[in-house]
Amino acid sequence: MSQFWSPIVHDLEPYVPGEQPKVANLVKLNTNENPYGPSPKVIVAIQQAADDSLRLYPNPDSSKLKKTLADYYQVKPNNVFVGNGSDEVLAHIFNALFQHELPLLFPDITYSFYPVYCKLYQIEYQTIALGYNLSIDVQDYHQPNGGIIFPNPNAPTGRVLALAEIETLLTFNTDSVVVIDEAYIDFGGESAIALVDKYPNLLVTQTVSKSRSLAGMRVGFAIGHQDLIEALIRVKDSFNSYPLDSLATVAAIAGFEDQTYFEQTCQKVITSREELVVGLSQLGFELIPSTANFIFTKHNEHNAEDLATGLRQQGVIVRHFKQDRIKQFLRITIGTDDENQRLLAVLKQLIIQ
Ligand code: PMP
Repeated sequence: MSQFWSPIVHDLEPYVPGEQPKVANLVKLNTNENPYGPSPKVIVAIQQAADDSLRLYPNPDSSKLKKTLADYYQVKPNNVFVGNGSDEVLAHIFNALFQHELPLLFPDITYSFYPVYCKLYQIEYQTIALGYNLSIDVQDYHQPNGGIIFPNPNAPTGRVLALAEIETLLTFNTDSVVVIDEAYIDFGGESAIALVDKYPNLLVTQTVSKSRSLAGMRVGFAIGHQDLIEALIRVKDSFNSYPLDSLATVAAIAGFEDQTYFEQTCQKVITSREELVVGLSQLGFELIPSTANFIFTKHNEHNAEDLATGLRQQGVIVRHFKQDRIKQFLRITIGTDDENQRLLAVLKQLIIQ
């Protein structure tokens, strides 16, 4: 605290990301990174772009990346917004598109950055309790609101909502912006990008951090009606003209160009997820059905926080949230097969003790 801080800073409750410890041989299953590296073609593209041209500012519009994304998702470049990770894209969305007269709606169990942005941009919000087995029921959102946002699949539950459900939501919610945060969509869900042509109040965000193994590059994007995109560009150009650096842009483009690698790694993660589900069930864990690169699980006879501590002592880190409703759960990122085996072996030991 300091007398020099603005009143807003005094009240902020910043988001705390999962830790990034630098410990050798750690099995790091706590921040939903991809266990596999990016496509080798991405590395080559970055190496080729690392030259004298770095003295120049990048293209402020990231036009080439927008064109790549537009072609990939079969929309127009003016339907695409790019930013420094989808967290930054989300921040601009909260600033530019949610109304202040009515509360923003999002689930009680969801990405914990949303309430942080609400504080930063002074947006009122109302949480909607997840229903049976931590699922979203879109009918619960049928009420006046200043905007709606949730991840699909949701985080940290991993549960996916069918596209038809999202369309139902869009048919009754026409007066405010609906944001679907698809950070994890490539691990088995169906993208709502298919609906942006039809619904001018729908905005879909995605990232290269998960399915394209490029969390270190910080590239995220939003796809929606050009009027929504224009609002985001206005905020961006009032904040930072060059949010994407040259190397990140080149890396993201190369990532989208290597479809084969992308499909192979996603499939590998999906297969490992199914194997991990079997392994955990055999140890007596209950699992929320996951369509993400992580699973959300609890054990009725073992305290989740104790399990997380026990795992950590043996070099395996997973995420535990202290929030009342989910404090018995662990969120575990899908690792390589070796990492998943190690996780299961340590859990087995902890459970049998
Ligand atoms: N949305 C959700 C639901 C997430 O879990 C994350 C990752 N923490 C993000 C968005 C942000 O991802 P990034 O900024 O790396 O694109």
